[in-house]
Amino acid sequence: MPLISIVMPAYNEEANIKPAVAALVQTFEALNKKYDGNKKYDHEIVFVSDGSKDGTFETIVEERKAVSSIKGIEFSRNFGKEAAIFAGLEIASGDAVIVMDSDLQHPVDTIPEMIEKWESGAEVVEGIKLSRGKEGFFHRMAAGTFYRIMSFLIKIDMNSSSDFKLLDRKVVDTLLTLPERNTFFRALSFWVGYKREEVYYEVRERQSGVSKWSFRSLVRYAIRNATSFSTLPLQLVTWMGWLSIVFGIVLGIQTLVKFFMGTSLGGFTTVILLILIIGGLLMLSLGIIGHYLGRIYEEVKGRPKYIISKVTDNISDSVKGVWKK
Ligand code: UDP
Ligand code: MG
Repeated sequence: MPLISIVMPAYNEEANIKPAVAALVQTFEALNKKYDGNKKYDHEIVFVSDGSKDGTFETIVEERKAVSSIKGIEFSRNFGKEAAIFAGLEIASGDAVIVMDSDLQHPVDTIPEMIEKWESGAEVVEGIKLSRGKEGFFHRMAAGTFYRIMSFLIKIDMNSSSDFKLLDRKVVDTLLTLPERNTFFRALSFWVGYKREEVYYEVRERQSGVSKWSFRSLVRYAIRNATSFSTLPLQLVTWMGWLSIVFGIVLGIQTLVKFFMGTSLGGFTTVILLILIIGGLLMLSLGIIGHYLGRIYEEVKGRPKYIISKVTDNISDSVKGVWKK
């Protein structure tokens, strides 16, 4: 009997835990009924509370009393959705793992289709958004720009992809062997390859609460992910250098010609402009290099991706209280 794990990162989702569990349990009941005893799927729901400040973890523990298929962990602080997803992957023991949001924006109705594709040989089943659901104009613009840049940088069409995915055990194990700390789940699951299929879904409205993304956190997320997947900004520095050199040669020749012709007075504006432009380019380049240096520094320190502070009673001791990478 194949075991399907559902991994749900949850940050302050107190009110969404119960509905999410109910929807999932019902989905699997319906799925098993459909196959009428010929095929049966076991499931487990892995909640990763990402340092929630409300009663998310307590709700998980409470739910676990009634639904034995629930596993839950709590982080010692907010480590971000990426860390939460990877913690969930680490704990999940299913033959296939489905990652989805705990606010029910990813519809549970898509799960049977994902499992079907997995059964017929797909190793990664990608959830593709048909529309982006209800989002503010500004958010939509920002997200659109981000995905266009990302798609260009990492040569993968990211626009309608999401974190809603089914991964085969093989793929999960591969992802867990990647040593990097700054992960970008959405792109990494492309990067590892394997046989992929797509399913399409409409983004639902958030069940309860508000989106956890502020504009600032989105911009930070965008820059981190773009630079963790591409060194193009660094190459850009080289190109700016070449441009300056070519420009410098042309201007140098002009200056020398003027000097030998005895007409070299004036040109003060040029000097000021050049200092400003070159100075700006230099600072920018240093900034880009500095950013990558900072990222290398972070990776080299090798701190764990997350720290677990609490777990439900059915989580094995190998996870309990350990600093997991
Ligand atoms: N989330 C998380 N840690 C965070 C922010 C978000 O685990 O620091 C979870 C959140 O609980 C939800 C999912 O990631 O299950 C998506 O977050 P949200 O709904 O806020 O984002 P949106 O759907 O607006 O993109
Ligand atoms: Mg959401």
